[in-house]
Amino acid sequence: MTARVLDGKAVAATVREEVTARVAALGFVPGLATVLVGDDPASHVYVRNKRRAAEQVGIRSIHHELPAEVSQAELESLIESLNRDPDVHAILVQLPLPEGLDSQAVTARIDPAKDADGLHPTNLGLLVLDRPGLRPCTPSGVMRILEHHGIETRGRRAVIVGRSFLVGRPLALMLSSRGVDATVTVAHSRTADLATVTAEADILVAAVGSPGLIGADHVKPGATVIDVGINRTEAGLVGDVDFEAVRRVASAITPVPGGVGPMTVAMLMHNTVSAAERLGSG
Ligand code: NAD
Repeated sequence: MTARVLDGKAVAATVREEVTARVAALGFVPGLATVLVGDDPASHVYVRNKRRAAEQVGIRSIHHELPAEVSQAELESLIESLNRDPDVHAILVQLPLPEGLDSQAVTARIDPAKDADGLHPTNLGLLVLDRPGLRPCTPSGVMRILEHHGIETRGRRAVIVGRSFLVGRPLALMLSSRGVDATVTVAHSRTADLATVTAEADILVAAVGSPGLIGADHVKPGATVIDVGINRTEAGLVGDVDFEAVRRVASAITPVPGGVGPMTVAMLMHNTVSAAERLGSG
């Protein structure tokens, strides 16, 4: 068997088209504020991509760059001013923050109505309650890929490797929510005999940050495999899944790059227009 490759770029293009139409219908220009602290090269690339994506769908990009030495109080006061600014409908603080800054305290400062990344405790709480709210971008992107490609979730066994608040945990809630109805297992760094656990999965999601962790032995024949991992290696960008080996066992697989990554950016645009629709022109 050779797996069908689930093209995240194509799904992201569909989401961007939807967002462009919703932006045009607003009657005002929504604003996405990006806050970048320090000089981590990967963070600079991510923020540049997000700003470019915003401009492409008609969202105004409002950018703030701060030195790594900025104090917690200064950073939080910038967030407060963006919360008050009627031209700003969504705020993104690029994580991770440099050492010494408390990213959870910063995230908690963001007005939940402007929380572009869906990581404020209020929005994560709404996700637990299965009520509408701004959802974390990467797990929402995974859900859109499954939906777009018609991957059945009801009654299926899903195994997520990774329990971060950014990806694994929220995705476990989304996959087990009413209407999606997968039966979910979350595996992590202390899971015993990982391959036995993952081999049960009809839908296997890897969100670890360990190149090639998931090999053919970890995968049930015919499974759908979603690779969230992004690892910079000498061979370039790779995921957590040994793509060449696993594609011979799985029935569908996302590539890295070009899988979940573009969806994360697209769902950020989706969240920004959703926030703008609710907040109005101010
Ligand atoms: P994290 O470091 O916060 O979490 C990693 C998780 O992996 C932890 O829960 C840990 O328990 C688990 N883990 C570590 N080693 C393991 C092992 N040997 N076996 C099983 N589980 C193990 O990372 P994160 O922020 O969730 O990101 C995970 C990966 O996804 C990274 O590569 C990151 O770059 C990538 N990522 C990609 C996107 C995207 O848009 N595609 C977005 C966010 C994160």
